[in-house]
Amino acid sequence: MTSLVLPATDDLRARARACLDRIGVVIPEGDGLYARTPITGEDLFGLKGSGATETEAAVTAAHDTFLTWRTTPAPRRGDVVRRFGDLVREHHDDLAELITLEAGKIRAEAHGEVQEMIDIADYAVGLSRQLYGRVIASERPGHRMTETWHPLGVVGIISAFNFPAAVWSWNTTIALVCGDTVVWKPSEQTPLISLACARLLARAAEETGAPAGIHHLLIGGKETGEALVDDRRVALVSATGSTRMGRSVGPRVAARFGRSLLELGGNNAAIVAPSADLDLTLSAVVFAVAGTAGQRCTSLRRLIVHRDVVDELLPRLTAAFERLPVGDPFAEDTLVGPLISPAPLEAMREAIARVTRDGGKLLTGGEQVATAAESAAYVRPAVVRIDGHTPVVREETFAPLLYVLTYDSLEEAIALQNDVPQGLSASIFTRDQQEAEIFMSAVGADTGLVNVNLGTSGAEVGLAFGGEKETGGGRACGSDAWHAYMRRSTSVVNYSGEVALAQNISFS
Ligand code: NAD
Repeated sequence: MTSLVLPATDDLRARARACLDRIGVVIPEGDGLYARTPITGEDLFGLKGSGATETEAAVTAAHDTFLTWRTTPAPRRGDVVRRFGDLVREHHDDLAELITLEAGKIRAEAHGEVQEMIDIADYAVGLSRQLYGRVIASERPGHRMTETWHPLGVVGIISAFNFPAAVWSWNTTIALVCGDTVVWKPSEQTPLISLACARLLARAAEETGAPAGIHHLLIGGKETGEALVDDRRVALVSATGSTRMGRSVGPRVAARFGRSLLELGGNNAAIVAPSADLDLTLSAVVFAVAGTAGQRCTSLRRLIVHRDVVDELLPRLTAAFERLPVGDPFAEDTLVGPLISPAPLEAMREAIARVTRDGGKLLTGGEQVATAAESAAYVRPAVVRIDGHTPVVREETFAPLLYVLTYDSLEEAIALQNDVPQGLSASIFTRDQQEAEIFMSAVGADTGLVNVNLGTSGAEVGLAFGGEKETGGGRACGSDAWHAYMRRSTSVVNYSGEVALAQNISFS
């Protein structure tokens, strides 16, 4: 078997340094934590980590700054986000390159992630003039009842490796226009892109006269995240990552009556109905499974195909998987880059072994692609056929692995779709309007995101993003998700000149 040709780590290091220089990042070199590239699996730079002292200082400064930032008019708060969006536009290529270097995304997807940062900045600037409340009819004459939304406090952001920049910008741009300040603990696997994002936001603050203390970056692992989780001054912990992480974060924040917004794992399914346009289905499914090498929370993991079309669809699907170019994410023709580390490759192998022991049949993929880089992990996306759910099918394996199941009735397909602990994204491919409506209805998919004739992955910033059950229940990004970053104040004004109690109560 021929071995993949990969760039040299020294060249990748030089590219990273050049991007960081252009953005204005001075690399905080040290030996607390290592920035690594999944392209070769090797270290790029040793970095200083943030310990307990830095975390304490960051939360203190964020809290102090909040006390003034909350009084800055919201449209003025939008100025810093507008400038940030402009800087992201100017450094689009640098940010995308860092995402490819550190998260291993192919170029098109890395650029897509940067575009999402720009889109959410635009959205948040508009939102800064629309943080509206309500006037509600009172039952008492001469009374006015209103709801007003006020800034909440310090928002602690904990983020995952797979959207190292976009998820932070969803949270940060909205939090800032809402009048909150931010302390960010990114994934320990993507510190360089975090330094770049933080520098651009700091530059935007300098140039627009916003206080430097509106945003703080902590480079560290789980312990740094835990310090944020336990700090009473952090009013909202917005945590994106595995369900394992959420299982720890949720109860800890609740124990101090803090607020949490959890964006956790998915186990997303798509139903292929007999009337589906199979050409459309095929391209949507291949991207949803293999895009980002299967490392999206919305990646498609289960395909539930009607028995009448499975024999036509499956050979086309496996052939499409076999044609997918796997390799260096910087190469123009690559569609599947590396896994973040060897750990998900191991998890994928174990999942395939478990499902085949339980009667599943591996149809294609699953083999590691040979390279000279020992610590890099490139894998061929895999398809496994299995009758019904086995324990491993109900788990999230964060790698490009698709289980194909069959069904006879729509009711059965929806029951299968919903029969997992996670509830993030679901799709149906159908030309039957009635089926589509049922799938989107109260008796349909129980996920936060429900799609018709498109794959499970991909999201627009205008929508609220998130899912139910073990996905955590949080909603970030568009629609009314900004409410999570503010506190609601309900006010009643009596201008009648008399005391009138509600429910006609007489107290004299
Ligand atoms: P992870 O859970 O290993 O780490 C995520 C972040 O949580 C990191 O910053 C990590 O340091 C921190 N962390 C881990 N344990 C913690 C703890 N006990 N207390 C505080 N912080 C802690 O996840 P990952 O491997 O980086 O990302 C992959 C996972 O994230 C997948 O499960 C994926 O589905 C999920 N994800 C979900 C969404 C969503 O919006 N629902 C988006 C992206 C990723």
